Amino acid sequence: MPAITVDDIMVLPRLPRPDVTATQRPVRRLVTAARQQEGAGFEVTRPFPSLDLRSADPFILLDQMGPVAYEAKGAPWHPHRGFETVTYMLDGTMVHHDSQGGGGVISEGDTQWMTAGSGMLHDELPEEKLVISGGTFHGIQLWVNLPRANKFATPRYQDLRAGELTLVSSHDGGALVRVIAGDLAGFAGPGSTYTPIAYAHASLSPGAQLETPWPTDYTAMAYVLAGSGTVGPDRRPIRAGQLAVFGKGDAITLAADTEQHTTTGDLEVLLLGGMPLREPVIQYGPFVMNTKEEIIEAMEDFQAGRMGTVPAEHRTGRRLGE
Ligand code: FE
Repeated sequence: MPAITVDDIMVLPRLPRPDVTATQRPVRRLVTAARQQEGAGFEVTRPFPSLDLRSADPFILLDQMGPVAYEAKGAPWHPHRGFETVTYMLDGTMVHHDSQGGGGVISEGDTQWMTAGSGMLHDELPEEKLVISGGTFHGIQLWVNLPRANKFATPRYQDLRAGELTLVSSHDGGALVRVIAGDLAGFAGPGSTYTPIAYAHASLSPGAQLETPWPTDYTAMAYVLAGSGTVGPDRRPIRAGQLAVFGKGDAITLAADTEQHTTTGDLEVLLLGGMPLREPVIQYGPFVMNTKEEIIEAMEDFQAGRMGTVPAEHRTGRRLGE
């Protein structure tokens, strides 16, 4: 898992230990993610939305894509409106194109933060040359909801390169934390967000503990990408493919088991949470709006080409996944 890393974790700034008066957030739910097919038949592990967890306000969806051997499958051209898609690549390379003539390459450790806002079309495909040469493909896609006031924001990208992430260590140096967006105990990541959130990737060495202050008014979740450990003050066991949803408090804690059978040798965890929007959420496929009428409007706008059209150079020829 070649996310950005450092030779000497001890030189990094350290997360402050939560105050002794801090309340450790208990684990309110432990959700085991379902595996399902997406796009052109690409298997994803999805902790939410699911029957077990509908609301992860202000987030809509979390998909772990892989790790799998490269396949020529991705998501062919499709629209989005009303939210942001955040793609964080751990292994391999994703190539994307959009209806505004934009596009790019998301390589290992990079994050693409796409604000779909008022609407756009795009495709997302594993890089062709790596499909041929083989290798591992592993990425994360998070859908961040937009508040009613920003549903029609102008579409934009933030390309956050691996080297731009904010790196910090746990207070004892046993865990490396990469802040992608938002603020973790005063350390801000490079991603700019419409509403306050925190999104980070932590690697805990075997036996290490990660404690961090967490804003009281944010939701808080931890998703295990690889490895096993415990979570919360009651040290509930958690393993790859499971999501812990924390209850109220102002600090979170995780610990890695003393043996890890992962490619990195570490427990790999995503930390995410934010200020809940507390607005009605109506999701229909790739559209996330506040009312049914707005979903119908989105479908009409898409069909009429008002979210853009597939660029001419992509209309013919081989389409990966078909
Ligand atoms: Fe998409």
